[in-house]
Amino acid sequence: MSTETKGKIGVTTENIFPVIKKFLYSDHEIFLRELVANAVDADQKMKALAVSGEFKGELGELNVRIVLDEDAKTLKVIDNGLGMTEAEVDKYINQIAFSSAGEFLEKYKDQIGNIIGHFGLGFYSAFMVSKKVTIDTLSWKEGAKAVRWTCDGSPEYEMSESDKKDRGTEITLYIDDEDAEFATKGRIQTLLDKYCKFMPVPVIFGKEQEWKDGKYVDTDKDNVINRTEPLWAKKPSDLKEEDYMEFYRTLYPMQDEPLFHIHLNVDYPFHLTGILYFPKIKDRMEVTRNKIQLYCNQMFVTDSVENIVPDFLTLLHGVIDSPDIPLNVSRSYLQSDANVKKISGYITRKVADRLEEIFKNEREALESKWDNLKLFIEYGMLSDEKFCERAMKFCLLKNTEGKYFSIDEYKKAIETEQTDKDKKLVFLYATDAVAQYPYVEAAKNRGYDVLLLDCQLDAHFVNLLETKIGDCRFARVDSDSIDNLIPKEERIRPEMSEQDKSDLEVIFKSMLPEGNNYYVTAENLGENASPILITQSEFMRRYRDMSSLGGGMNFYSEMPESYNIAVNMQNPLVMKIMDAKMAEVKPAEQVEDAPKDAAEDQKKAVEEQKKAVSEAHRKDLESFAAGNSILKQITDLALLANGMLKGKALSDFIARSEKVVSDAYLEK
Ligand code: ADP
Ligand code: MG
Repeated sequence: MSTETKGKIGVTTENIFPVIKKFLYSDHEIFLRELVANAVDADQKMKALAVSGEFKGELGELNVRIVLDEDAKTLKVIDNGLGMTEAEVDKYINQIAFSSAGEFLEKYKDQIGNIIGHFGLGFYSAFMVSKKVTIDTLSWKEGAKAVRWTCDGSPEYEMSESDKKDRGTEITLYIDDEDAEFATKGRIQTLLDKYCKFMPVPVIFGKEQEWKDGKYVDTDKDNVINRTEPLWAKKPSDLKEEDYMEFYRTLYPMQDEPLFHIHLNVDYPFHLTGILYFPKIKDRMEVTRNKIQLYCNQMFVTDSVENIVPDFLTLLHGVIDSPDIPLNVSRSYLQSDANVKKISGYITRKVADRLEEIFKNEREALESKWDNLKLFIEYGMLSDEKFCERAMKFCLLKNTEGKYFSIDEYKKAIETEQTDKDKKLVFLYATDAVAQYPYVEAAKNRGYDVLLLDCQLDAHFVNLLETKIGDCRFARVDSDSIDNLIPKEERIRPEMSEQDKSDLEVIFKSMLPEGNNYYVTAENLGENASPILITQSEFMRRYRDMSSLGGGMNFYSEMPESYNIAVNMQNPLVMKIMDAKMAEVKPAEQVEDAPKDAAEDQKKAVEEQKKAVSEAHRKDLESFAAGNSILKQITDLALLANGMLKGKALSDFIARSEKVVSDAYLEK
């Protein structure tokens, strides 16, 4: 090529450069990944030529060099790969690279903002940040001449002879003023770390530095920014646990040690390798920082893998490398892609396989790490049907004594004691072992076992287990009296007249804090049981809990709290109060109903009188209650047991109790 050639590249739209710049503005940085990827390709093709014997000369050490001149604002990507002849530059750059960029834009012009990875632009993306690009290239082929290609961002290029002496390609970007950030060392270093950390050929950026005489100075050692053989590309059988941990630290230097890892490796029907880690998860809200990184042949693509793996798996950390995930398509399309579905199914299955294997072979380790793993598993079970089926086998339940059981083991353990009269298995649980301590103790004394379900998702999880296990019921220990939690036979309730029942209700309600709903019932709980038991219905509480988690049932969370007040009619203190009531409160006056044929105003008068009488009776009962010190003390004790005695009521109770104690022990 003795004369200079000019030509027009094969793009149909004249002003395609500004279009690219505008639409892909936020992703300008990917130009570097694209150029390094091309350079890596060129090196690997060169290696293949040597391996096949087509090339017999000196291969040298294949690598990619990034050379930045901050002052001149130029950035070079240099490889010693196979290079290009003049004809090849014409074909691959002038025709293919540019026309494929044009096609790409044409195809995606409506949704260009949605495309992930922005693949397919390739070499062309250099123009996103450059006012001018030159290629100097010398092909490996015998007798090839070095070529220089120059283009200033218009669809016109120039080709001339280059003085390049050694094999390979050198791309020079003259960085735009508005993209000046890409002519700074810090920015380029960051980008190389992000995109090229695991590329399969050494990528060199400047020299390694050392601290000397009070400042950093270059050594003569090349600064290689990547690991050419990342862990996921190695054989699992060659690796030790420590290798996986070390790799995790290079991926996420600031993070706690992970719990377990999975090495993924599949060749058919798609290619996928990777390593996933189960992180410690204590709080679902805190887990978005360390995302799974998606690679394509060791080149970083993205760390947003939503739509590629099921939602619950995005809680995992690690890397997935697959050339079979279509990346130049819109996000919404991804989910319906057959390959992506297969990949997502495969990963879910692998995660379940690994957990099952840990359950079988490393039970102790699983138990010791369970508390940090549980949220992940429960979330997976709640959100993914297939995973749930599998997890029923290895999901653990922890009781209030800190023992762990599989679901099947637990069913066996409680079968004898905790089957109710309807043959339903009753799982008792506490959500807070400290606050619900008296109830937990009562259940244990009865020979029952109590699970600890104190995780954020447990309100939903309990519902799921009930449906999956079948023929069972979950009840929180404080949701009813111990007899009613697991009823073994039909209950015998105290016999009382309607009037007595209503009196009981008035008396006890008058002693309880305002603002809640109370349902007072008379129960026979045995003479040694507490006089009053405050419980909250399982149903109401569960719905409140779920709506506070955002289950959409806000109706429930806005209602006042409801409590059941069981008064133990067999308790001697209650009996004493009832006797006192009989003695001190005169029975409600009986008012005769008006005759059926009475006049309207006579009927009205009778109604008025009834109302007045019942109001008077209520006042009598309330003043009796207010004056009864046993009543006050036992209701306060019941409230105290439930953590409901607060503020002034609490300090009054303490003062009163001190007085009771001093009256009993000190001589007056
Ligand atoms: P792709 O890499 O997807 O083929 P690109 O636009 O990135 O698309 O590159 C177009 C073509 O230009 C490549 O396929 C390759 O033939 C050629 N090419 C680009 N960069 C180099 C390079 N550094 N060395 C040799 N050939 C290259
Ligand atoms: Mg490319």
